[in-house]
Amino acid sequence: MANEIKDSLTCQICQGYLKPIYSGIIRDGKDGRKESIIYECQECNVQRLRESDCKQLSDYIGSEYRDSLKQPQSASDFHREYDQDQYERIKFIGYENIRGKDICDIGCSYGTFMDHIAGIANMIYGIEPNDQCRRQNRWASRSEIKDAWHFFDVVTSFLTIEHIDNPLEFVKKCRSILKLGGKLVISTPIKVQPLETYYRTQHRWYFNGMSLKELFKKVGFNDIYYEIITNRHGKFIYMAGVND
Ligand SMILES: [Zn+2]
Repeated sequence: MANEIKDSLTCQICQGYLKPIYSGIIRDGKDGRKESIIYECQECNVQRLRESDCKQLSDYIGSEYRDSLKQPQSASDFHREYDQDQYERIKFIGYENIRGKDICDIGCSYGTFMDHIAGIANMIYGIEPNDQCRRQNRWASRSEIKDAWHFFDVVTSFLTIEHIDNPLEFVKKCRSILKLGGKLVISTPIKVQPLETYYRTQHRWYFNGMSLKELFKKVGFNDIYYEIITNRHGKFIYMAGVND
């Protein structure tokens, strides 16, 4: 019962009521299993994992996290696994939003996406908390967003928001480094069956089109649009909005 008492039932994004909607087995690491609870906000529709079962940011800094998921440990292995997912990202963003633009990729890992827009973008910069990834990334990067730069034409963040402590603060930070008129592009997994493997300890947040759009609107983005993309790694939502 301690877990239930500790968990807040207020949505961190919209202050709505979090109602338990799933209680049972979820995935822990690559093959592990664990009992947990998923809550759904009755206002904005976002779902979240019980806080006491969530990974913390410090878990992402070392290599143990990728080990536990049996993810590639070297840049070349990682690129081999994810190179082919980059074209769908570029297609969603549109070449007109890449060519000649200053672009920041948040949660850039080994820089796979950045490699694919090199030669078209004007300037490429990354944010990545994992030291090992940053060392093997060819592009300039830092571990976190520290200041409001208002510098970039486009900010991308693929498969990152589901891990973040506070998505509202995260999207505000993304906006703080965008120029006026700049574009934010975020991708995240969306619901697939079975729920026993869709819900997992490394994902604190579970968005759909409605909840992610509400978050973009709340932070002040306009001209919001999205697309659902399925590939061999799963089913994902890509959402874009303009900072104006
Ligand atoms: Zn909410």
